[in-house]
Amino acid sequence: MLQSITVQAPAKVNYRLDVVGRRPNGYHDLRMIMQRVNLCDEVTMRLVARPGIKVACGRDGVPEGEGNIAWKAARALLERTAGDQGVEIGIVKNIPVAAGLGGGSSDCAAVLLGLNELLGLGLSVEQLMEVGVKLGADVPFFVFGQTALAEGIGERLTPLVKVPSAWLVLVNPNLPVSTAWVYQNLQLTQRERLATLPNSFETVAELCAILGNDLETVTIPAFPVIDEIKRSLVGLGAAGALMSGSGPTVFGLFLDETTARQAGAVLERQRDWFVAVVETV
Ligand code: ATP
Repeated sequence: MLQSITVQAPAKVNYRLDVVGRRPNGYHDLRMIMQRVNLCDEVTMRLVARPGIKVACGRDGVPEGEGNIAWKAARALLERTAGDQGVEIGIVKNIPVAAGLGGGSSDCAAVLLGLNELLGLGLSVEQLMEVGVKLGADVPFFVFGQTALAEGIGERLTPLVKVPSAWLVLVNPNLPVSTAWVYQNLQLTQRERLATLPNSFETVAELCAILGNDLETVTIPAFPVIDEIKRSLVGLGAAGALMSGSGPTVFGLFLDETTARQAGAVLERQRDWFVAVVETV
C-alpha cells in the first residue's frame, strides 16, 4: 500500500467576483469566475502507524496544528477510517498567505485528494467537494480542478471549458487585508450587472471585457496602492488588471510570456513586493 504522496496545490485568481447578496448567517452569495495558475504549494502526506495528525509548514502566520485548514481536511477523512493510523503533512508554502490567492483552501483540497488516494477511501469528486465546503468556501473549486463559474458561497460550480490560456503577473504588496474585514465593510449596492456572464471566451481581450471585483470598492479606498499596481501593470503591457479575491494581490493578464516577464522584472525592482510570473493551468 502507498504510504506517502505529494500533491501540487495551485493558487487561483478571480477573473470576476460579484457579491450578489448577504445571508442571515453572515455568508455572502457570490458569482465568481475562478482560474488556477501554476504557482503551487507542495503538500506531502505520509501515513504513520501512530494515531494523530501533524502539520509542518514553517511559515510565519500559518498555524501548524488544528488551526491549519490542511489539518482539518485530514481529520475529516481519517474520521471515515476504522484503523488507528495517523498522518504527517508537510507543506512547502510558495503561495503568499492571506493574499486573495486561495492558498489555504488549495492546501486543504490537496489533502482531501491525496488522502482519499492514500487511505483508499474511493470518495468521488462530488463527495470530496461536500466535505470541502464545510472547511472553506473555495475548497470545492480546488477539488473540482477546472476553470469554473462558482455560485452560492462558492460551492455551486459550472465548468468553463472555453477560456483562453494566458500569462499573468501577480503582485502582492504585502498589506494586512483580512477577508473578514473586507466583507464587513462591503456596501451591497444595487449595481447594474450583467444578468448572465458569458460561459465561453475566445480571446484574452474577451476575458478582459468581463474582469470585475466588487471587493475592490472596499480595498482600493483603504489601500490606494492596489489601484497604482493595476495602472502600472496596464502601463507595462497588461491587457487587463484586477485585484484577486479579497486582495491585496493584483494580477495583470498578458498576451505573451515576454511582455509578462519584462513587466514582472520592472515591478520586482520597484518596491518590496512579491512578484510572480505565472501561467493559467
Ligand atoms: P482566500 O482568498 O480563500 O480568502 P487567502 O489566500 O486570502 O484565501 P490564505 O492564504 O488561505 O488566504 O490564509 C488565510 C488564513 O488562514 C491565514 O491567515 C492563516 O492563518 C490561515 N491558514 C490556515 N491554514 C493555512 C494554510 N494551509 N495555508 C495558509 N494559511 C492558512
